[in-house]
Parts: sequence; C-alpha cells; structure tokens
Amino acid sequence: MRRLLAAALAVAFLAVPSPASAAPDPTAPPARDFGNGPERNDAAAGVPEQAGALDAAALPEAQPYGHSHDRGYPRRTRLPLPPENPADSSIKLGLVPYHGIAPRLNELQRRSDRVSVEIIGRSYQGRDLYLVTVTEPESAARAREQARIRERIENDPAAAARDRGLAARYKAPIFVNANIHGNEWEGTDASLRTIEQLATSTDPAVTALLARTRLYFNVTANPDGRVNGVRQNGAGFDLNRDFVTASQPEARAMRQAIMDTQPVALLDLHGYVNGTLIEPTTPPHGANYEYDLFITNTYANGLGMEAAVNALGYTPERDGVEPVQIPFRDSTDGWDDWPPIFTPQYAPFHGTVAAHTVEIPLDVNEPAYSTEPVEELRRRSAINTDVAAAAVRATYGFVRARHDRLIADQIEVFRRGAAGEPSKAVPLGIVPGFGPEDVYTTTFPRAYVIPSGAGQRSATAAARLVDHLIANDVRVERAEAAFRSGGRTYPAGSYVVDMRQPKRGLANVMLEPGADISPRVGAMYDISGWSHALLWGATVEPVESLRARTEPVKAAAPTGSVPRTPGPLALRVNDAKEVRALNDLLAQGVAVTWGSAGAIVPASARQAARAVADRYGVAFTAAGPAAGVPLAPVRVAAAASADELFTLRELGFAVTPVSTAVLNAGFDWSGTDVLYVSSGLSHAALNPAARTALDAFLVTGGVITRGRTGAAFNAAAGLLTATTVAGNSDGNGVVRTVSPNADLPGYSFVYSPLWFTGLGPEVTVEQSYAAEGPLIAGHWRPRDDGSGGGQKDARGQAAVVSGRDERGAAVVLFGTEPMFRNHPKGLFAQVARALYWSSSVTGAAVGTP
Ligand SMILES: [Zn+2]
Repeated sequence: MRRLLAAALAVAFLAVPSPASAAPDPTAPPARDFGNGPERNDAAAGVPEQAGALDAAALPEAQPYGHSHDRGYPRRTRLPLPPENPADSSIKLGLVPYHGIAPRLNELQRRSDRVSVEIIGRSYQGRDLYLVTVTEPESAARAREQARIRERIENDPAAAARDRGLAARYKAPIFVNANIHGNEWEGTDASLRTIEQLATSTDPAVTALLARTRLYFNVTANPDGRVNGVRQNGAGFDLNRDFVTASQPEARAMRQAIMDTQPVALLDLHGYVNGTLIEPTTPPHGANYEYDLFITNTYANGLGMEAAVNALGYTPERDGVEPVQIPFRDSTDGWDDWPPIFTPQYAPFHGTVAAHTVEIPLDVNEPAYSTEPVEELRRRSAINTDVAAAAVRATYGFVRARHDRLIADQIEVFRRGAAGEPSKAVPLGIVPGFGPEDVYTTTFPRAYVIPSGAGQRSATAAARLVDHLIANDVRVERAEAAFRSGGRTYPAGSYVVDMRQPKRGLANVMLEPGADISPRVGAMYDISGWSHALLWGATVEPVESLRARTEPVKAAAPTGSVPRTPGPLALRVNDAKEVRALNDLLAQGVAVTWGSAGAIVPASARQAARAVADRYGVAFTAAGPAAGVPLAPVRVAAAASADELFTLRELGFAVTPVSTAVLNAGFDWSGTDVLYVSSGLSHAALNPAARTALDAFLVTGGVITRGRTGAAFNAAAGLLTATTVAGNSDGNGVVRTVSPNADLPGYSFVYSPLWFTGLGPEVTVEQSYAAEGPLIAGHWRPRDDGSGGGQKDARGQAAVVSGRDERGAAVVLFGTEPMFRNHPKGLFAQVARALYWSSSVTGAAVGTP
C-alpha cells in the first residue's frame, strides 16, 4: 500500500501510523476467506519459463547504466544471472522470483527486437535494478532525435509548444514502476507479462502503439524486499517515502530513470486495497503541481483503468474482488498527494501529467502470507496480476489515444515554469467533483538565494543542498559578483535558484517552508512538512528581485579547508558532515579533545585533518588555547528504528543493534559507551539479570532516548525526573524551536511529538517548542477526543532535555524526530553532540562544546 492504512477508504478500523519508515506494516487488513472461487493459478505464470533456450553468449554483457542518446533500439544486452534463491518469497505465491527475472528478460531480448534492458543501479543489498524499454526498433539517428526532442520539451518549452510537428515525431514515454514495496509483488509479474505480449504480438494496434510510444518498466524497484517478502529495502527503508531525500540507491535509480525518460504517464503498482484503488487522490493536493493539467489527465486515465479492471469480470461474490475505488471521486480525505515523497507525487515535477498509485485488490502479504493456504494465495496473486496488467494496458491505450495532448500538456508544465507564471488556481469543475476543497496554490518567489560568506550558517550544508538540487535536475547558478536584492547584499559565490525555470515546481516544493494545513483537512497519513530549506542546515532566502551576473553550476564548489597557520585545529560540529569528519579522525586514533570551540585536533594530525576536510567539505579553524576532555570513538548500542540505525552509521558511529530480547539473552556492555533507545526495548520486560547488567552499565555509560518508547524507558529505568506529555500521534511537520544554544537551528522536525514537564533539578532544557506556532509546515491538530495534544499545547514546552541521573549516567531525551527517515540533515548533529557529551564524563551541558 502507498499508505500504512486507508481508514477513510477501505479499512474499517483506525490505527496509529508508524512514525518511522522502518517498522513492518502493523495495520495490514485481516486475512479474508473468499470461499471456493475458481482457480486461476495458471494465469499467474506470466512469461513462460524458457531460460534453457537462451543463447546467452550471443548477447553482449549489459553495460552499467549511463543515459546514452547515441544508441538505438534494441540494445541487445545480456543481464548477469543472479544465483538461484529457493527462499525468494515470490515463489510461494506462484510468482517470478527475483532470480527468474533476468533469464526471462534475456530470453525476450533474444526473441524480440522490441525489448531492451539496462541495469540502472543496484539495491542496498547489491541486486541489479532492471529498466526495460519496449518500443519499435530505432536507428541511432532516430534515438538521437528522440533525445533532442525530449530535451527541447524541457529546456525550450516555448519553442516546443510552437513546433506543430513535434508530437508527430515524438514517441510518448510511459513509465511503469513495479514492486517498490517488496511484499506487493504482482506489479512485477504483470509487467513481465505485458512486456512479453508487446514484444511478441502481431496485432497491428501494438505495432502502431510501439511506433508512437516508448514503454519503460522498472520491473522491480525493490528486489531486496521482493526476495525478503517485506515492504522495505535491505536497509529497512520505505522507498516510497524517499523521493525528496534519496537516501537509498533504489530511490536514486528511480529518480534518474524518471528524469532521463521524462514520462507523460506513470503507474506505481502497489497492493492491497479491495476494491482496487486507483488515483487521483483526495485533498490536500500538492500546491506546486500544474494541477489543472494533472487532474484532467490523471482522472481520465483513472476512469479508463477502472473500466478495464471492472471489465475483467471479477465479482465480490465469486472472487472476493470489490469494484474499483478512486479516492478523488469516492472519498473526502485520507489519500492525498500533498508530500512529494511518493513516486506518482514526485514524477509530475519532471513532466508527468498522468500519474497514479494503483493498489491491486487481494491481500497476500503478512499475515495472510503465513496463514492462508498456498492455493488461496496463488488464486489471489493470479487475480492481482490480471488487475495490474489491465491497469497497464488501459494506460498505454490512454496514451495512444491522447498522445499529442499529453505531450502538449507536458510542454505546458515546463513552459509555465520557465516563464515564471504565477501558481494557477484550478477552475472549479475542471473535472466533475473538483470543488473548493481541491484548490491549493502557492506563491513562487522570484528566486531563492543560498548565500555564501557570513550570511550562510553552514557552507558545508549549503553545498550538500546545492548538489541535491542539481541531482534533482533543478538549475542552480552561482553569482559571479556581489549583488543586491531585498535590501541585502549577497556576496559573489552565493548560489541562486532562479524560479523562472522548467522545474521550478520541484525547486519550490523543496525550498519553500511549506504550509500548516491543519485547518484545511482532518487527517493525513504521512508527513506534511519536509522543507529542505529549514531542515537541511543551510541558510536559504527567498528574494523578490533578481539582478545578478551568474553562471550555471554543475556541482557545488568545494568547502573543505584547513588554515595555514600552524598549531591545533578546531572543528565545529554543527552538521552531519562535520560529525562524519570527526568520527573519521577518532577512528584513525587521532587524539581529539572536546571543548568549548568544538573538537580540537592536535597540530600533529594536520595531514589527517586536511584529508577529512577534502573528503567531507568541512572547514577547520585555528584553535585557541581552549582545553577540552579527551574524546574516543563513541560505541552505541541502539534499540532504534532502521532509519535511525542507518543514519547513526552514516554519521560514522559504531552501532550495535539491541532489543529487549538481545539484552535478556545476556548482552556484554563492555563495548558500549551510550545506549540509544527509541524502539524495541521495554525496561519492564527485561529479566532480572538484564536489569542488573543495565544498572551496572548506567554507572559509566550514557543514555539517549527518542519518542514514546524512549521516554518510557527513561521513566522505568529511573533516569531523569521528567513527565512525558504526548502530543497528537498524527501530528507531524517542521516546528519552530528556541534554545539557549545558538548553534542549534531554530527548527526541528516532529512526528508524534512529545514534550517534558515536571523536570527535576538535575534536568536542563536544551530546546523548546517556540511560543508561537510552533508548527510552521505540516499537520498537527488536537486529538479528536478533546484531550488536547495539539500544537498550541506544546507552546514553550521542553522538546529536548538533558541531565545526569543519580548513578551518573548522562541522559538526553528527545521529543522531536531529528533523524526521521534520514531526511533532516541539519538536525543529525544534534544527536551526535548528545552522544559525544553523553559518552564523555565532563558533566558539560549538551550542545555546548
Ligand atoms: Zn505499497
């Protein structure tokens, strides 16, 4: 499912969504018994197994993906064959296991001149990602022409709009993204079936289709999850939340493939919602889309898919298949397109004008996967494959029928951006049912400036943000000379994101603060705030005039430096990159001390400092005479969600995952400096031996907690004197904060926010929710039952506290979410500093090196 649940739609119960991406979906609908429906297992097989017939040596080895405009189609690659894995979770369902995909694609490439396969990246666990292109053969010259037209559409849309012959020459790109959730399998099998049908059909309609379109299939976007039978990839990330973060290799591969192919239509194939759920969505609608173009096409194709799925003839009585639902038409809220973290909500910024999540109907993942008979699971998977294939078929039929208009609408998206036109309020009734509740607009500034020099709180963070924007195909320029705007002077070298650009929607959705949408909609099931400008650590300023001499930027300028003056060096630790650099030095055995100026590196380690300055783009300064306490590599035992483990390791900490079970089995604490608790550890459930061992650890070790589980651990273990108050568990977004520590940003991120009252004399408030708001962007209402928990209740309350408990343990409690899904890069250092402080025995306050 795209969501953890769809309470307003199909699921009759309400549950708390998991705050982190890591937890397995605990809210899967219960297994249902559909009785003795007809067996349709034979239909699930898709492409017949003919791997034995493959003359693999006749094809060249698949090349690593580099977008080549100079090669025609077919490309005749030969995919390396993964080892056979009898434990692949697909097998039980009668579906194609991951290791079965490459042989089939090799065979199809051998049999048909319409199929080409490229490897577009590797999964976290190292599995190849396959992008299949289906089209009629193209000479290299024709392929180059297609590339030229595609680039013209994006980069010179006004001219493309005037070129009346363009659409006739251009093959409309269609993108099918399958299996992004690993345990929503059948999109892959439907893709393989469709590829084979298109490859081998003699129907003139197919020939005509392939002359006017290219169909791209990301056959399995999440092979780790497919093999392992889980939603997430091998790192424990939900890839369908990662598009504006791109922390995972699979998400980066999808992003690049979408940018390179620039689809007019995109399907993201999921399961399981009965009856089949087909977008468009409920409000709130993302304010940065050209929504008039988007809703018109997306609704039309949604209706076409509905007709195709219903025409399969499955019935509730016989098959357990309910009629199609379209959230935009059939629901009021609960399935929105507000955050651009999902595939169909990200692709429109690259010109996709019809984009859909499709949820196929019959539940086959946990717990049904374990409890239903194999025959029943295979019956369901066969139907699901049919439904997904029908959605794909309807979509290519739609693109064939609406070919020129879809291309014209894509051009119009880029044209409005390049022209800097204001955000357009979509006319009511543009499609049936489009009412005032559907209208969302934004205000584009003239440009965003990412200043250099003294006005930039972190040059390192600014460089990361610039590189991220460029990786998203957002144009960034650099000022060649100082310029004035809005009464301010920005120095030469400042970065400029001109909002007159084809992909200004994407630039704005990342750089605007966002909006507090609490008043407008009752419920959201995922995040509602994500601003990179506020959460990624760099200073970003919108400006309303732009007169600057600039040059385009392909990559951010280097930011690492070491002063020439001899002597010890200081490194402020306010950014994730600085944490990484410091942990690198510690791992090398450099004798770093932790003092009032940050980390102090001895003069003897100058060479090592220069190396990490270059590697991570961090700036050392000359250290004064400040003294500090010796710092050693911090060894963390973490009962945490997968995204937090990933982030702590990315920061360079040595992390050992622990849990209640691990501690009860007899955990050796001698290799641990700090215990991090946010998930999977209950003090009450520890056995006496584990408690004794933990108490012994707490004499010398520290504790960092986050969230409810962490706060409960603090109370049960008798650490800091504090009462935890839980805000609305649905509340999430970017909040304004205040702190006595000027190094902390004035923002944080929350999901299920907490605050702390009744603080004992040993407790220091490190960071509070601001007295105004505090929500800047997101959704945070009081609980429906009148028990409070809204953002106003959090005003001025302590969000992060620290202290030493009676035994001496240095403890920090987070009520915020500073490592959420690896996204808020500008907040990670706050956790790192808590770890450095906690592991040391200085007794200093957190965040005051
Ligand atoms: Zn899904």
